[in-house]
Amino acid sequence: MSDSSSALRIVWIYPDLLSTYGDKGNVLVLRRRAELRGIPVEEVHVHSSDPVPAEGDIYLLGGGEDRPQILAAERLRADGGLKRAAERGACVFAVCAGYQIVGESYGDDDDNPLPGVGILDIRSGRGQVRGVGEIVADVEPSLGVGRITGFENHQGRTAIGPSATPLSHVVKGVGNDDGQTEGAVQGQILGTYLHGPALPRNPGLADLLLRWRVGQIPPLEPSWGERLHEERLTAVL
Ligand code: GLN
Repeated sequence: MSDSSSALRIVWIYPDLLSTYGDKGNVLVLRRRAELRGIPVEEVHVHSSDPVPAEGDIYLLGGGEDRPQILAAERLRADGGLKRAAERGACVFAVCAGYQIVGESYGDDDDNPLPGVGILDIRSGRGQVRGVGEIVADVEPSLGVGRITGFENHQGRTAIGPSATPLSHVVKGVGNDDGQTEGAVQGQILGTYLHGPALPRNPGLADLLLRWRVGQIPPLEPSWGERLHEERLTAVL
């Protein structure tokens, strides 16, 4: 947010291409948790034929199947708005196909490398087997999020380069290519394989994105989000 009077601008990138597992839930929960703290929100939905505004606060990218993923990456690269936004310090939350797209490169269906948007130092190729199922991971302690849960479904395997760090350490599931870590963080760019969608299942992750943009935020009374989080942890472990 540029000043205290302006709204938090949440930009949902390409709902027509990248929205496999109810990724709209991430937009709704982020908005709700901001508004419950009295933070006004402006929500912008960017269709894949539209330009990506460079002046957003938090950009959300969801998951996608292989072909829509390729199309989305090509359009985002040609457009340049997301890269410009990241260069001026905007926050990006990218899930699965979105995670791979914001990296340096990712593999197509035959594992030929294709260029990503290049705002997160990761490279993705194709794995031998699909990573499918429930995943539980412990987020890097300095981020103050704790344990997260989600559903993963990806053929891609992601290697983290020296400029990024793992988001979390896997307790159960697949995650990145090393079989030990899940997701990646670089400044305020956060990528993860967690569907679910991730933010409704992990309110703490939504609050991390809000803290990055607006600083300290008061805690909220635990509600259905926290209950869902607990329920999934109990069910999966
Ligand atoms: N197409 C990518 C893969 O299979 C991403 C899948 C997804 O977003 N669920 O790795």
